[in-house]
Amino acid sequence: MPTLAGVLAHETREGELYDVLPDGRLRCYACGHCCPLPDGAVGVCKVRFNEAGRLRVPWGYVGGVQCDPIEKKPFFHAYPGARAYSFGMLGCDLHCGYCQNWVTSQALRDPAAMAPPLSATPEALVRDALRSKARVIVSTYNEPLITSEWAVAVFKEAKAAGLVTGFVSNGNGTPEVIAYLRPWVDLYKVDLKSFDDRHYRQLGGRLQPILDTIRRLHETGFWLEIVTLLIPGFNDSDDELKRLTGFVASVSPDIPWHVTAFHRDYKMTDPENTTAAMLIRAAAVARAAGLRYVYAGNLPGQVGDLEDTKCPTCSETLVARRGYVIRQVRLKAGNIKDTKDTKDTRDTNVVTRWECPSCATPIPGRWGTFRA
Ligand code: SF4
Repeated sequence: MPTLAGVLAHETREGELYDVLPDGRLRCYACGHCCPLPDGAVGVCKVRFNEAGRLRVPWGYVGGVQCDPIEKKPFFHAYPGARAYSFGMLGCDLHCGYCQNWVTSQALRDPAAMAPPLSATPEALVRDALRSKARVIVSTYNEPLITSEWAVAVFKEAKAAGLVTGFVSNGNGTPEVIAYLRPWVDLYKVDLKSFDDRHYRQLGGRLQPILDTIRRLHETGFWLEIVTLLIPGFNDSDDELKRLTGFVASVSPDIPWHVTAFHRDYKMTDPENTTAAMLIRAAAVARAAGLRYVYAGNLPGQVGDLEDTKCPTCSETLVARRGYVIRQVRLKAGNIKDTKDTKDTRDTNVVTRWECPSCATPIPGRWGTFRA
């Protein structure tokens, strides 16, 4: 019986994110591992490999698709209430013991993770997204960086059809992959798992490439939101949270930071589950560090107003949420641009600035049009 790795080796084409080194090995740039690959070698991700001097990369399948509320990704400052058509492939460059998507992400490392690939084309995925009335299409479930060529092929079709595009990623990027994605990816969520390099090494990565990627994503104009899953005893000390949120604020105090509750999953079953009080304490640390948009997730209805977007100047509630449900949006349109100069064919006009209706503070995000 063929192995999953054997099946996936055929679901490939030549990649675009690599160079040939002087000694003949290939250097892959799709993620921060930057694997040097001799002929026949497979990368840390186990899905990209050197075959006779060419880098083969995943192509032509999905590990799963689903239409989710965009709040589940989570993006809170982008198209509130929109449907986000979500697809993923298989494999990951990290191996987190608490992964909630381990069936797809660890499919090539863990025999218990049985996730067969389903044949797909970019055109069929986009047709399905439009049929599902999605406004946004997102590469998620496995680590999208390691399958960037496929995501870009899907997003080229998606953009031609007027969809917004997004990545839900661990942020272990490189300058090369960010430049490659920039024309095709609008929204980018980074899972900043810790601020301790030793912890990242336990998960199979390093902290520095992730910090560099966060800075570069912000500087190059992706809409960026950051999530930290708060794991008791792993990343929840005051000191680590102060340094982590201080770093995010140093990139920009306007980057939304989501602190979300851990529940025992996959191989990480020792820590206690995160409580609402723990999330509220972490949120207070983030605010003290200077972050203006701080959200607590995974415990709907238990975290006070930490699910809502508040005006950082006058504290007016601008977007009221409960879990993934939008209860109210009170943003006011500022500048409006005529669509004659834009490619957006869905809206009769494009609002380029949204603001607080009470004090006119601009609220950063890609708000687009939304169902209030
Ligand atoms: S995607 Fe990352 S882990 Fe996979 S081959 Fe490329 S550099 Fe290595």
